[in-house]
Amino acid sequence: MNNLPTAKTMYNALVNKDRTYEGIFYVGVKTTGIFCRPTCPARKPNIKNVEFFSSTKDALLSGYQPCKRCLLRKKSIDILHP
Ligand SMILES: [Zn+2]
Repeated sequence: MNNLPTAKTMYNALVNKDRTYEGIFYVGVKTTGIFCRPTCPARKPNIKNVEFFSSTKDALLSGYQPCKRCLLRKKSIDILHP
């Protein structure tokens, strides 16, 4: 959790699918155990149910699984295995 923007900033970026935050943070959804990129097309979770990570590694180490919609597409697979 280093050098991340504030939770409010990241949550706004998530809701707005702000591409400028791609690669800056990933969001873990506590209720589903899945983590996403900020631009994920999936429905946005309540802010109370999310936590933020600065890397996919941190999210994986915290027990989250990568989202099938935004992280396991062919184009993004390399960010899981840098
Ligand atoms: Zn996703």
